[in-house]
Amino acid sequence: MTTARRRHPPRRQPTAFFVSLGCPKNRIDTEVMLGLAEAAGFGLARAAETADVIVVNTCGFIGDAKRESIDTVLALARHKRTGRCRRLVVTGCLPQRYAEELARALPEVDHFLGAGDFPRIADALRGALPRALIAATPEYLYDHLSPRRLSQQPFTAYVKVSEGCDRRCAFCIIPRLRGPQRSRTPGSLEAEVAALCAGGVREVSLVAQDLTDYGSDLPGRPRLGALVRRLARVPGLRWLRLHYAYPTEIEDDLLEAIAGEPAVCKYLDVPLQHVDDAVLKAMRRGQGGAAARALVARLRRAIPGLTLRTTMLVGHPGETEAAFGRLRDFVREAELDHLGVFTFSREEGTAAATLRGRVPARVAEARRRALMRLQRPIARARRRALLGREIEVLVEGPSEESDLLLRGRHAGQAPEIDGCVYLALPEGLPAAPRPGDFVRTRVTQVSDYDLVAEVLGPAK
Ligand code: SF4
Repeated sequence: MTTARRRHPPRRQPTAFFVSLGCPKNRIDTEVMLGLAEAAGFGLARAAETADVIVVNTCGFIGDAKRESIDTVLALARHKRTGRCRRLVVTGCLPQRYAEELARALPEVDHFLGAGDFPRIADALRGALPRALIAATPEYLYDHLSPRRLSQQPFTAYVKVSEGCDRRCAFCIIPRLRGPQRSRTPGSLEAEVAALCAGGVREVSLVAQDLTDYGSDLPGRPRLGALVRRLARVPGLRWLRLHYAYPTEIEDDLLEAIAGEPAVCKYLDVPLQHVDDAVLKAMRRGQGGAAARALVARLRRAIPGLTLRTTMLVGHPGETEAAFGRLRDFVREAELDHLGVFTFSREEGTAAATLRGRVPARVAEARRRALMRLQRPIARARRRALLGREIEVLVEGPSEESDLLLRGRHAGQAPEIDGCVYLALPEGLPAAPRPGDFVRTRVTQVSDYDLVAEVLGPAK
């Protein structure tokens, strides 16, 4: 007598939900984890409620970022009680920095992976790892063979040219979290950009902790200028933009490449951090205020139509009212296109944590607001110079402002940080542009950080 074999329902594909916090470099790590999870047979859940495993790729750089990371972990941990979640995994800079403290403080977390250990994410998703896997010094560096699943819009992507940093800026904990500088080879970078463009990417943003130190650790010391030329000629690439250039390492050859290569955006992000000699010395930035001023002039001479972004840090120990005054004067004179201002965060393990001359947090915050107030009309004036001009815009999609407008960015606006262009579609336009299209436009209005432009037609 044969008994009918009991049919087992097909095993449901396990799913994972990822949250990426912090900087674009961390986002790339998350995208590699997405690729590894898929390769290991996990589906990617669109919501935490429907995920079997939740992964939070954290930031551990400064106070606010640490708080956001912990709050996010605690908020998502509730899905282990109410949802399908069976496993909570925390990766990135926070466990790299506070492994033991987190292991004690967050019993709801099943696995901690360090900033260089995320290639083992598939094992963590399966629960096949010890609770904490955190190499003392991260060594991993993804390359063109790493499975990567883009998480932004399909026409734009960040590419990390190197990981880690060999500098020792007094306020910065990153070298301890990310390890020593390690550069990708030009061949691997070209292969990755080519694959991205073959997949529909048109805009690539090059990132690193210290972009301009690219290649210093590789045989033959390939230079960033040569790399930029090589990547700029990848078929299908329309815009290549550079971020995190260190002010003392900008070579003429790099500037010639930016100015000379059509696909390279006339855009540069150079974190200056400050312009006061004594503060820059305390920050261990390796240059003084005069050099910062000279650099701005040199960049604008070398790259006509340059869009210049920088970052300033206020409230660093030793920043007197007079020193801040010099920074304010610089911002007034330099007329920067994009300015980010952060307040000093005293981070244990950095040289600045033990410096005297502390600035009260409320004073630092007041200085941050004062600089942003000063920058607002300057930013508007920089945009007003574009009024009536014809500019090329990358369409991102519908605008949140109005159904009648699309949203896009011009080459002087990096993703996520630099404002946008609202696009008006005139009557009779043959077809509405789609996300990822490049269009010719004429600027009709400006605000402090955004533009409004009329679409004239497809870009050539
Ligand atoms: S260059 Fe300085 S601020 Fe930037 S990651 Fe390195 S140590 Fe930190």
